[in-house]
Amino acid sequence: MPDLKVALLPVTPFQQNCAILFDASTKRGAVVDPGGDVEQILEALDELEITVEKLVLTHGHIDHAGGAAELRDRLAERAGGQAPPIEGPEPRDRFLLEGLELQAQGFGLTGVRNVLPDRWLAEGETVEIAGQSFEIFHCPGHTPGHLVFFSKDLNFVIMGDVLFNGSIGRTDFPYGDHAALIRSIKQKILPLGDEIAFICGHGPGSTLGTERRSNPFLR
Ligand SMILES: [Zn+2]
Repeated sequence: MPDLKVALLPVTPFQQNCAILFDASTKRGAVVDPGGDVEQILEALDELEITVEKLVLTHGHIDHAGGAAELRDRLAERAGGQAPPIEGPEPRDRFLLEGLELQAQGFGLTGVRNVLPDRWLAEGETVEIAGQSFEIFHCPGHTPGHLVFFSKDLNFVIMGDVLFNGSIGRTDFPYGDHAALIRSIKQKILPLGDEIAFICGHGPGSTLGTERRSNPFLR
């Protein structure tokens, strides 16, 4: 049986859940959405004794992607120049990744660098995270290129900022699309099944069944 473990680390002033996913037996894993506070992420990786194979991004917002370039470079330094690849999001979030430094100025954040992935991801493909295969769903609305990752074997979803425990992702951006977000949730995510557990970008996780029954934004 796969032995996937998840450690959540709230980072940046936005308290975004950076997720360290790893195989408990091999201690190999991935960092999902390293938005910032890279020093803290490195400390957590050391404490857990994890070898990072890749960085994965659900979407291009600063609290999810703002620390990716620095984390990659710091990990490369430690590994004799061998940088872990960055995978995701979907190409429609390129403008956000290319605008991270500008977003940082707006929020008064330092240490943020623009970043582009080594591999863009798309719906229909799979991505390996901590030794597990995850199906990729393109779920626009919060951002145009937002991705959600689903492991059928583990009944587990990495949700990003699409659906939260009791809430949904913001769409009050110039590029936000509330109707598209609701469509993404109802047509792609909820059909995965009530028993599916998820972690998300902010706050505690939940299950799809709980959200289908009680999330006020899905009525
Ligand atoms: Zn976001």
